[in-house]
Amino acid sequence: MNILAIGAHPDDIEVFCAGTLLKYKEQGHSIFIALTTSGNIGSNEYDTREEIAQVREQEQLEAATLLGAEVKFLRFDDQGLQDTPETRRAVINAIRWANPDVILANYPGDPSTDHAVTGKIVSEVILSIPGKLIPADEPPIAKNPSLFYYGTPVGIGFEPEVYVDITDVFESKKEALALHKSQYAWMDVYQTHGLLDILEITDKFRGLQAGFAYAEGFRAFRIHGYMPNFKLLP
Ligand SMILES: [Zn+2]
Repeated sequence: MNILAIGAHPDDIEVFCAGTLLKYKEQGHSIFIALTTSGNIGSNEYDTREEIAQVREQEQLEAATLLGAEVKFLRFDDQGLQDTPETRRAVINAIRWANPDVILANYPGDPSTDHAVTGKIVSEVILSIPGKLIPADEPPIAKNPSLFYYGTPVGIGFEPEVYVDITDVFESKKEALALHKSQYAWMDVYQTHGLLDILEITDKFRGLQAGFAYAEGFRAFRIHGYMPNFKLLP
């Protein structure tokens, strides 16, 4: 299968669903990552958005190597992503590029605006992926992928309906997240817990809910023609 993980920022994939991607990788599936922004305000150590984007894209590519994933950067500005014909076109292109059987995406109810808008666009363009007259640059695809939303920052406002046991890949997930080095100094300025602590606590809590040591939780998107197939989760 082809698995596409769509996120708003470099590190979203590693925080929220890299364990599941590592399980898919173990099973021999092809992994694709698309990011709507390159997190280009996510640091105070650089003077321009371009520099930050460059650093964060490089970190994302290193993490993607560990996940065995190809990456597509859509490069909209961080914080303030909008649902526009332009962003929709880019997301449709990304989905068609990956030709996915399963899509993992941000949750539209996520309190982070970029996360919510990314999740909303993915959900709302899914009916557009087979149509040849839809404004896009990639050709239509015939698949009807299952769309699952991954969690929100520290799980706020997100009640999973299905869990993936990531216990045996949790250390690799931590390694992947640790590659987003620019986020350490940044996050420590305004958060009481470091990025890896957050991962440890959140994934252990989801594991507690599900009866595993560590887990990632998901909710499914449902629309006629694109109903979720839970058996496709690893
Ligand atoms: Zn994010």
